[in-house]
Amino acid sequence: MSETWITERLHDHYAQSLRVDEMLYDSKTEHQRLKVFQNGTFGRILTLDDVVQTTEGDNFIYHEMLTHVPILAHGAAKRVLIIGGGDGGMAREALRHASVEHVTMVEIDAGVVDFSKEYLPMLSQGAFDDPRLNLVINDGAAFMRETDQKFDVIVVDSTDPIGPGEVLFTNTFYGHAARALTDDGIIVTQNGVPFMQGDELTGTMRAFKTLFADHSCYLATIPTYAGGPMAFGWGSHSKSARTVSLADLEKRFAAAGIETDYYTPEVHKAAFALPGYVKKLFP
Ligand code: SAM
Repeated sequence: MSETWITERLHDHYAQSLRVDEMLYDSKTEHQRLKVFQNGTFGRILTLDDVVQTTEGDNFIYHEMLTHVPILAHGAAKRVLIIGGGDGGMAREALRHASVEHVTMVEIDAGVVDFSKEYLPMLSQGAFDDPRLNLVINDGAAFMRETDQKFDVIVVDSTDPIGPGEVLFTNTFYGHAARALTDDGIIVTQNGVPFMQGDELTGTMRAFKTLFADHSCYLATIPTYAGGPMAFGWGSHSKSARTVSLADLEKRFAAAGIETDYYTPEVHKAAFALPGYVKKLFP
């Protein structure tokens, strides 16, 4: 029997292939080509334009690190904004915090939300039905430009800077995001795998340097984002959130009563330890 493989060609000289055990959905949305398929190692996989977005097997690492790190570092986050995040995994993790009163999620592609609800319900786990969630179907850059709301935490859960996600990596977008943060607010961004996409991190850090009192990045290794650890950009108007003590994180994590599979206060602190090749990407 012949096998079907999907090859992700995100980089010029490197590709990764995933075996399609069963194609569950393959369609073109208004914005991008969306596929959901079954794979023996990762379970259900969502791709947009044949680039892996999330998988049933390893999404916990990405979603836990982009939510619990800024929310617990902040310590009293009530209002969270997610840009992108159509599969619902980011909303799922943010809403685990009982202290979070309101999550706005701005996703450009209603198709991603609809198909994820139907084919990847294990990702959102009911988050779309939570009354604290306000789902907005709009371009995240347009929303950010126009909003007069303030947020304690902004999570940019975007695609890579090609296609609709490109605007989410611009200085203009970051400038509007800085304005939409409260005085002690924190923005975190998916910044790709620095070994493969170093320019992405450099560009974001260059913008953050001028916009925030504190900027850096932190790392986590996610198997399907190939090429080494992924970088998450960090920008804050507060200088103390990043250096919160392990003891304080342990207290906040225990008080939150959240069960995690990747995030721990120790991992949180360690994630900000950067290898030399990543530090060299900072302008
Ligand atoms: N972590 C994944 C990755 O990098 O492989 C991305 C996760 S996926 C949930 C990213 C989402 O961002 C997609 O649903 C996509 O439709 C959405 N998106 C892309 N550009 C956007 C924009 N300009 N405004 C809002 N959402 C956007």
